[in-house]
Amino acid sequence: MSRFARERRVIYWEEPIFEADAAAPSLTVKVCPRSGVVVATPVLPERLAEAERVEAQRTLLDEFIGETPGELLAWYYTPMMLKFSRGLSPICLVYDCMDELANFRFAPPELASLERELLKAADVVFTGGYSLYEAKRDQHPNIHPFPSSVDRAHFGKAREITAEPADQAGLPRPRLGFFGVVDERMDLDLLAAIADADPAWSVVVVGPVVKIDPADLPRRPNIHYLGGKSYDELPCYLAGWDVALMPFAINESTRFISPTKTPEYLAGGKPVVSTPIVDVVRHYGELEGVKIAADADAFVAACSEALALPPTWLDAADRTLAAISWDETFRQMDEKISEAVARKRRASVTPVLSLPRPAARPAGRRTPYDYLIVGAGFAGSVLAERLAAGLGKRVLVIDRRPHIGGNAYDEKDAAGVLMHRYGPHIFHTNSDEIATYLSRFTKWRPYEHRVLASIEHVGLVPMPINRTTLNRLYDMNLTSDAEAEAFLKSRAEPVAQIRTSEDVVVSAIGRDLYERFFRGYTRKQWALDPSELDKSVTARVPTRVNTDDRYFTDSFQAMPAQGYTRMFQNMLDHPGITVETGVDFEDLRSDVIYDQLIFTGPVDEYFAHRYGPLPYRSLFFRHQTLDREWFQPVGTVNYPDEATPYTRVSEYKHLTGQSHPKTTVTYEYPQAEGDPYYPIPRPENQALFKRYEALALAEPNVRFVGRLATYRYYNMDQVVGQALATYRRIAQEEGRTTTAVTARSAAAAE
Ligand code: FAD
Ligand code: UDP
Repeated sequence: MSRFARERRVIYWEEPIFEADAAAPSLTVKVCPRSGVVVATPVLPERLAEAERVEAQRTLLDEFIGETPGELLAWYYTPMMLKFSRGLSPICLVYDCMDELANFRFAPPELASLERELLKAADVVFTGGYSLYEAKRDQHPNIHPFPSSVDRAHFGKAREITAEPADQAGLPRPRLGFFGVVDERMDLDLLAAIADADPAWSVVVVGPVVKIDPADLPRRPNIHYLGGKSYDELPCYLAGWDVALMPFAINESTRFISPTKTPEYLAGGKPVVSTPIVDVVRHYGELEGVKIAADADAFVAACSEALALPPTWLDAADRTLAAISWDETFRQMDEKISEAVARKRRASVTPVLSLPRPAARPAGRRTPYDYLIVGAGFAGSVLAERLAAGLGKRVLVIDRRPHIGGNAYDEKDAAGVLMHRYGPHIFHTNSDEIATYLSRFTKWRPYEHRVLASIEHVGLVPMPINRTTLNRLYDMNLTSDAEAEAFLKSRAEPVAQIRTSEDVVVSAIGRDLYERFFRGYTRKQWALDPSELDKSVTARVPTRVNTDDRYFTDSFQAMPAQGYTRMFQNMLDHPGITVETGVDFEDLRSDVIYDQLIFTGPVDEYFAHRYGPLPYRSLFFRHQTLDREWFQPVGTVNYPDEATPYTRVSEYKHLTGQSHPKTTVTYEYPQAEGDPYYPIPRPENQALFKRYEALALAEPNVRFVGRLATYRYYNMDQVVGQALATYRRIAQEEGRTTTAVTARSAAAAE
């Protein structure tokens, strides 16, 4: 919050307080000295009826906002505040949906309809966890999950603190503790069962009792209710516990919660025992130090196990914690807000390019642009450069993202580490022509990507599987290619007709290796079994009998010396090219004149999903900057087991060669919703694409280029090749000659 407040002026509008002797509504305003947040609290006379209370808050808010300079960004964490704030016209309305509030006890009846109204008005919606996201994602087009992060430094103090707060100091050990609001979500019978299981255990409950009758709380000599404590005090209590508890009831009110206390407990160095809250199982369930138990007996047994854990459990927990931070959450939210603001601005001002559509253009009127290119990724940027530099065209390139480069975009993060916002991009090609073409815009840093797979009970082994992998895995000493080949042959299972991604692998290396390296990874990545995916997917990853441990074997493997974004800047730096980012084609299509359109976004989106959506797979990227020089031995470590929620972790400094005392890594979590990243190679998807392709071919003056527009699982070099080939066709149609380099490049890629 303090960082947000430093960059913007933040007004925190509180629930009103009611005073019997208040003569008229008033506002108390305080500024938090630490964060700079302005806290505004309406003070209302108690006697006011509900409608008058709403009206009073509306007046106070309008007056206060009227006196506050600058643009307004409205952030709702409950729909109830809409009742008096409908009149605001913010540049961006954020709904931060933290819970399924309507499922809570005493939820006001109008909550559901207010939420519907808020969702309709919101420009961007954040959810406090994945389950909530899954429940709400069909209700808003711009919704993003943000599971709880943790202030590791704050709760980490619990690992050092030795002084005990007075009300906890006398309680015998072991202590099993809970902090948080005690309300209807707490399973009170379970709490009693824990206490009854072993009278020598002290059960410590820290937190206010809300909405439930304190008389209903189980009372036992070994249950200690210490009441609410401040955020600052929590680590002092946590420090004195041996196990931390999450005894939540499993019901409607807990279906979507994503308890912040899980990472907080872990940051404090305490093992956790929880009931099966979906998001706890999802994010932390695989950790040795997080035990999940569904009933009282299992919960008690899990507490005993947690008490007996060897201290090594903490290593894996720390690795998980290292991947999350509020700074990163802030950065990602900030980005979503900036994109929403840019979109809103575009829509609310009279467009600069407010000109009639091509069809309505009066004859003879000068065309401002020969080409409109939608998308500033490889497909769009290569074509813009070629059309402007090769054919002298006037080109407008737009991208809905606030930057150029498409998925290959890289940037320095807050710590100054060069990283890739959309996951690791390693350039490799066998086409001299494509490498030569791109070399006009960048120098290169030679780099050969290496990947290790993390295999249970074995550790990190080379991926693609090679002789070293086999020797490590099966404790063998195969010394020649022939021996390794014979070994794989002995494992391989013949498959009559190789059609699927399972067939490819099983027929080459057998079921054991398939299951350990491919099945889980593929199921996570695609939410499909390899038997349901086209063979081309896993065929991307070969198996080797030699000891070559490079991920790619292409003749040219390198990274742009100053990054991809710089390369794109150089490519687009031409007087014939205008670039506008943060602009969606939808917002612009009727306002700009162009002769020809090149579309590099999803082809089904262009045709308003006429035949239904084409399936694309998405990813959630969790970026993390760590205060250490290196995180892992190679650029990428793959996690093929299905229990680990991410597929791979990549560390950019290996790729970029940057020297920096800190390091930045990205975890990739596959997901169904979100930006489309991967076309899903399956026969029925290809059949659907063919229907769109038929529409695309019939669309006059429009060309579809790139990974999303041609629904092909293409690498960067293949997209460059496709764009160059498209350029060559355009040039031929115009009766001009192209340079040798582009003509050959296109041939290589087609
Ligand atoms: P994109 O890069 O997706 O660009 C399309 C652009 O169009 C986007 O920026 C989008 O915002 C914009 N757009 C879409 N619709 C609209 C609209 N309606 N209005 C305005 N703008 C719009 N390839 C490799 O060779 N090596 C790798 O190591 C590698 N790693 C990868 C890792 C990940 C996680 C992913 C997802 C891909 C990876 N790739 C890699 C593939 C590579 O990203 C693509 O081949 C390449 O970026 C495709 O370029 P493109 O121009 O077709 O599409
Ligand atoms: N794959 C796998 N295990 C791995 C690496 C890859 O099963 O350790 C499979 C998986 O289906 C993946 C595909 O091979 O989607 C292609 O892998 P690649 O590394 O080329 O994926 P990309 O970089 O395109 O995400």
